[in-house]
Amino acid sequence: MSAERIDGSVLVVNAGSSSLKYQVLDPTTEEVIADGLAEQIGEGSSRIKHRYRGHDVVVEGVLPDHEAAIATVLELFASDGVDIADSGLAAVGHRVVHGGRSFFAPTLIDETVRSEIERICPLAPLHNPANLVGIEAVTALLPDVPAVAVFDTAFFHDLPAAASTYALDAEVAQQYAIRRYGFHGTSHEYVSRKTAETLGRDYGELNQIVLHLGNGASMSAVACGRPIDTTMGMTPLEGLVMGTRTGDIDPGIVFQLARVAGMSIDDIDTLVNKRSGLKGLCGENDFRSVLERADAGDESARLAYDVYLHRLRRYIGAYMIELGGLDAIVFTAGVGENAAPVRADSLAGLENYGIEIDAERNAIRSSEPRVISTDASSITVLVVPTNEELAIARQ
Ligand code: AMP
Repeated sequence: MSAERIDGSVLVVNAGSSSLKYQVLDPTTEEVIADGLAEQIGEGSSRIKHRYRGHDVVVEGVLPDHEAAIATVLELFASDGVDIADSGLAAVGHRVVHGGRSFFAPTLIDETVRSEIERICPLAPLHNPANLVGIEAVTALLPDVPAVAVFDTAFFHDLPAAASTYALDAEVAQQYAIRRYGFHGTSHEYVSRKTAETLGRDYGELNQIVLHLGNGASMSAVACGRPIDTTMGMTPLEGLVMGTRTGDIDPGIVFQLARVAGMSIDDIDTLVNKRSGLKGLCGENDFRSVLERADAGDESARLAYDVYLHRLRRYIGAYMIELGGLDAIVFTAGVGENAAPVRADSLAGLENYGIEIDAERNAIRSSEPRVISTDASSITVLVVPTNEELAIARQ
């Protein structure tokens, strides 16, 4: 048990559909005191990796649900540090995926807010229930520490109506809160602001395209500090090809699967969210393996890569037109930060549009924000590592 004081630090809790990420960090110094990841929750064999000041503990076992995961994580804090129960923690920040129409700013969580997040659950059935479990479990342990919800949709709350409205019967859309909300907003905002800082420019004067390419993937067009479009929609399913999600598909496919294949709505939900994307096309969603197999001549991995890139390039073109003028294209998240071939291929052949990647700069591996375009490129291309935990802790 650690007696260390951690005054002013924040516990950030990010509960995904089958994972739980957490950090205790100081938002001023940016120092990470403890962090961890619980994976494969509810999947038979689970694993938690917990780290406190460079000391790692791994717990393997079965975590049937998020309650069990959080209980084990809280025990790890008590047994291996840092003691979060009584040592000066200033706040808890919870990432909440869907804020619906109600939430578009960091919100102090009370009973009313909790029930409103619960009411929104049908809009994000894979995510918001896990977020709520996180909120309840941590609040039970730390009832006196203020808990704040930071919504993934918030940054996109003011998308122009033309970009946020589906061409659906307007009354039906209104009644069921159907609109394009956008997700990964915390990351898109953090990365686009960091880009301005890296370039020494005013955030409000830059036009940017941000590519958040992780297992989930989304792109945004940010005009002078204001997002004007993004690829994810009412749910995180729309847009780019992802690790296990289809991204854009013809909704007619859903009717076909229901009517002809006899699949239930739940079966189709699982198919398009968990068994599609790269995994559906070539059996794997780890981008490293997809790249290795595609390079080695594996046809299904090559096709998966080509479909992934085709979608990226389509949206890059669309957003260049929407923005009118473009200053920066920015890559972030697991694939965007690490996969040099994806960055090179998604912008290949665009020299006539003022986009030219420098092969040597692109090949450099680093955890720092960096420019990867040539000096002659009129549009600057960057890699800017995202840090959603820090962004949440600051908010
Ligand atoms: P994220 O969701 O941001 O954690 O990103 C996860 C994705 O990043 C996975 O598909 C990983 O395979 C991919 N990734 C991580 N490191 C690399 C790498 N060095 N090269 C290619 N993809 C990577």
